[in-house]
Amino acid sequence: MRTAVTLAALALALGCEIQEAEGSVAPDEQEYIPVPIPEITDRDVKPAHVVYLNREGAVLTSGRDDSSRNLSSIVPQETPELAIPAWRGTAARWDQMVECVRGHFGAYDVEIVDQRPTVPGYVMVVVGGTAGDLRPDGVELSGTITGLAPFNGQAIENAVTLVFARTLRENAQRTCEVAAMEIGHAFGLDHSRHCRDLMSFQRPCGARRFMDEEAPCGTTEDRPCFDGAPTQSSHARLLQTLGPRL
Ligand SMILES: [Zn+2]
Repeated sequence: MRTAVTLAALALALGCEIQEAEGSVAPDEQEYIPVPIPEITDRDVKPAHVVYLNREGAVLTSGRDDSSRNLSSIVPQETPELAIPAWRGTAARWDQMVECVRGHFGAYDVEIVDQRPTVPGYVMVVVGGTAGDLRPDGVELSGTITGLAPFNGQAIENAVTLVFARTLRENAQRTCEVAAMEIGHAFGLDHSRHCRDLMSFQRPCGARRFMDEEAPCGTTEDRPCFDGAPTQSSHARLLQTLGPRL
C-alpha cells in the first residue's frame, strides 16, 4: 500500500515535471522529483549527520529508504533492481564537486564524505547515470531530469537520493548544486522561489546558496510550503534540522 502511494506520487510528479520541461524551464535548469513517503509518527526522526556522496554506482532495490542496504523508495516496485552507474568524470572534477557540496553545508552539523560509512545512519547520494537508468527498458524519462530525492517535508532517515551526473556531463558545479538540492529535500526542504536559493527551480540570479531569507515555496509559481508555512528560509531550516557546525 505504501509503495502504491509512492508510485502514484512519482508518476504524478513525473508528468508534472515533463510538462514543465516543455515550457519555460531552460534546458539546463536542474529538475527534481519529490517522492512523498509516509511520515514516521510514532517517534521523532533523527536526521543523519553524515552524507555519503557515492561515485561507485549502486544497485538499488525498491523499499523504504535504507542507505546502508541500498534500499530506495525512488525505485519503482515493479523494478527488481536498479543499477545506477558510477561517476564517469575525472577524479579532479569529483574532488571539486565534493568540496563544493562541503562548502554549501559548511555552516551545519553534517559531514560530507565520499567513502561509504561503516556505520548505518547516513544520507546517500548516488552520483552517476541518467534518469533513463530508472527504467529497466531503457526508456528515457526525461533528458532534463537531473536529480531525484524522496521528500515528505521532514528529514528522512537513511535517505537515498540520485544525481544524474551523466546528464550534467559531470560538470562539477552543476552536479554539486543538484546534489545540494537533493540533500536538502532529504532533510525536509521544499523548493524555494528565491532565485538564488539552492532549492530554487528558477533561473539563477546570482551564486546559489542556502539563502537566509524567507521566500515562498514553489517551482514555477508561489505556493505555500509543504509543511503549511507560507515561506521557507532554507538556511534557517537546515540550522534547525541539523544544528550549527561547532
Ligand atoms: Zn528539487
